[in-house]
Amino acid sequence: MELLKERIRRDGTVKGNDVLKVDSFLNHQMDIALFEEIGREFLRRFADCGVNKILTIEASGIGIACVTAQSFHCPVVFAKKSQTRNIDGGVYVTRVESFTHGKVYDVIVSKKFLGPEDNVLIIDDFLANGAALEGLIDLVNQAGARLAGAGIVIEKAFQPGGERLRSKGVRVESLARVASMSEKDGVRFVD
Ligand code: 5GP
Repeated sequence: MELLKERIRRDGTVKGNDVLKVDSFLNHQMDIALFEEIGREFLRRFADCGVNKILTIEASGIGIACVTAQSFHCPVVFAKKSQTRNIDGGVYVTRVESFTHGKVYDVIVSKKFLGPEDNVLIIDDFLANGAALEGLIDLVNQAGARLAGAGIVIEKAFQPGGERLRSKGVRVESLARVASMSEKDGVRFVD
């Protein structure tokens, strides 16, 4: 998605060799006009899949998921990060290791909001090592729901998550795929 790549080139900053900061338009301050374009692009790619629910993870996926849901006309469920396993039985639980914080979280979704009748599109801002996406897929599987695929805004293709998930048969659609990046040279895209 050229508009998104241009914006990353213009406003993204690279920290170290593996963290891309896009907090001026994607995950702190949010450019909703750009989100609308992102939502329309996800709809174009997943239009024929019969998606009836969008699943994301708090916090930074929520804004994009909500705007995308306006294109799909379906509800959004966000998985909640919880510090404790001590939760009542009405939830699906999985464990996720956070790429940006290095912590392990339990991540939960209420059984009321995900079930076998659902055909789920997962939406997230970044795909790096794939832990967040694998956790969300685990929740979809626990619920007996169908997975239509995953829509990712920025995939760091030099990290292993995308390739591993695609090789397992998951349909992963990323709008910008970063081949490499550095503080000195900025961001280079796959295509
Ligand atoms: P993964 O679980 O695939 O390793 O990482 C995905 C999660 O980590 C995303 O939900 C995102 O919040 C965060 N993340 C991973 N890489 C980056 C990055 O380069 N920049 C930012 N801002 N967040 C990232």
